[in-house]
Amino acid sequence: MGVLLFVVMITPAEAEAAIRARAAALRTEIRPLHRLNQAILHEPIVAARDQPPFDRVTMDGFAFDSKIADQGRRQFAIAGTQAAGAAPLQLTSPADCIEVMTGAMLPKGCDCVVPIEKTVRAESVVRLIDEVRLEPLANIHARGSDVRTGERLLEPGTRLGPAEIAVIASNGQREARVSAEPRITVISTGDELVEPGHAITEWQIFRSNAFAVLAALQRRGFSNLNQDHLPDDLPTLRRRLQAHLESSDVVILSGGVSMGRFDYVPQVLQELGIQTVFHKVAQRPGKPFWFGVGAGKTVYALPGNPVSTLTCLVRYVFAGLDTARGAPVRRPEQIRIVQDFEVKPALALFVPAIVSFDDGARVARLAPTRGSGDFVSLLGTDGFVELPPGPTCLTAGRLVPYYSW
Ligand code: AMP
Ligand code: MG
Repeated sequence: MGVLLFVVMITPAEAEAAIRARAAALRTEIRPLHRLNQAILHEPIVAARDQPPFDRVTMDGFAFDSKIADQGRRQFAIAGTQAAGAAPLQLTSPADCIEVMTGAMLPKGCDCVVPIEKTVRAESVVRLIDEVRLEPLANIHARGSDVRTGERLLEPGTRLGPAEIAVIASNGQREARVSAEPRITVISTGDELVEPGHAITEWQIFRSNAFAVLAALQRRGFSNLNQDHLPDDLPTLRRRLQAHLESSDVVILSGGVSMGRFDYVPQVLQELGIQTVFHKVAQRPGKPFWFGVGAGKTVYALPGNPVSTLTCLVRYVFAGLDTARGAPVRRPEQIRIVQDFEVKPALALFVPAIVSFDDGARVARLAPTRGSGDFVSLLGTDGFVELPPGPTCLTAGRLVPYYSW
């Protein structure tokens, strides 16, 4: 009698946790403002000035000393013009006013601004229209009302987008320390695969996975990308994979991780010093997913069936890349499914979904494919939901985690 080996497969949550625990941290680097989008900050940003840094005029108009209002004065001589970017003028008489532009510093001696639309001007005299009252701080963005010098504006781990980059720039900084852009190599494997645009035989197919993976990476702001295709041939796999490992921080493979005679990828990776963290996850599709690390490199070997490749990429690789860049863990969106759905296998099920709005809330219509090779069915879908292992029947309205492509 042979030995029965029961391999207990890990769950998707355990796989994600193992990836987050083991993904190699990336270097940090200093990058200029125009290259910070989507980067993960690795230093605190501390306000170097109050924000706004001076009492800033917010309307084109006239600046006054509001205390004059008690005297009922409605007509004022224009004593000068205060432009944005110019040193402040001084109001010398409360019977005067100063013409001011949006963005100018409030002239000294003034404490309020009346917009030009609420005044009537004749030569160098301006009159307030009837309903206007002079009120302290009107139409002034007061110094330090948004931020005080020394306050923490951004914490390490923040993902930088337009607002964060504006805050860094407005603090006078031309660069910031962020996680280095990972050098990612995307490699498809398989002797049946042909480069699109090349001659093909009846028993071959065009390779599509690498391009889908690249697009998903680009969508999330990764740009230091390289790609290749390798045959199911041990010596070639060894040689070319070794070169790719040397020049990459992260390698994402597709294909060659199942039980087939020519599925050499895990074996070759281990020969090259990448230790297996796990092989196989209790999920459909994508059960043969392999993950390993070694010598500061992180390797995701995704199953080759296109639906599995894309699903594993989105479910796991982005979590690993986030962790490697020092980003805080982002929990997936929870979304309501709109139809009853039966989960048959005792495996977590990833089902493509079309998202729409119902009464203002995002909801997901499940759009199962005809199998993990049926990537044409992904057209028109927005992402996928993760359903718990069966057998179970989920009812419409049930909240489940959702991941967009
Ligand atoms: P494998 O994981 O290598 O056993 O591949 C599983 C299935 O996915 C096979 O039918 C392959 O032809 C297909 N496949 C593998 N890699 C790709 C790719 N890069 N593009 C499209 N289909 C692929
Ligand atoms: Mg293959």
